[in-house]
Amino acid sequence: MVDALKLKIKTLPFGTHAVECHLDESFFNLDEQIEVRRADVDVTLNVTRKSETTYRLEIACHGTVTIPCDRCLDDLDLPVDENYCLNVEQMGTELDDSNDELLIVPQDWRELDVAPIVRDTVLLAIPMTRCHESEDDCNADMLDMLDSHRVEAVPDDDDDNNNETTGTDPRWEALKKLKEQ
Ligand SMILES: [Zn+2]
Repeated sequence: MVDALKLKIKTLPFGTHAVECHLDESFFNLDEQIEVRRADVDVTLNVTRKSETTYRLEIACHGTVTIPCDRCLDDLDLPVDENYCLNVEQMGTELDDSNDELLIVPQDWRELDVAPIVRDTVLLAIPMTRCHESEDDCNADMLDMLDSHRVEAVPDDDDDNNNETTGTDPRWEALKKLKEQ
């Protein structure tokens, strides 16, 4: 997908090489847990071949990702400013990515795709609480609309669990209707 991030490790000359690329939302939307509506992220990857079998990756990501606000569902822009360094060693026949600082890749790999590492570097930086800083920063019209719909959809006072059993969040239904208008 992003060919620049596929490193030809076997034939890489010794020394440091800079790879630059730009990522948009299509790069991030493989992840199902976070809906990335827009992305504008510049990546600089410095890859150093230190020996026949050892490499060092220095990844810097700068830009913006836009995700839905959990409260009002409107766009929430988050700045991206992440750096991640990782040593890579080729040995054996098994991939081992259990260590945050050392990635072991099989000896016969000719190519290393850094895209998943870059994707995780950006997505893991997104906070658990994904809301506009205060309710005043939220889209007031959206909040009003969502509120009125909530009352409509859940007329009983202690009906909160209903949403989970039916699997339909009234807020999303309301948003869908809004988009159709
Ligand atoms: Zn909001």
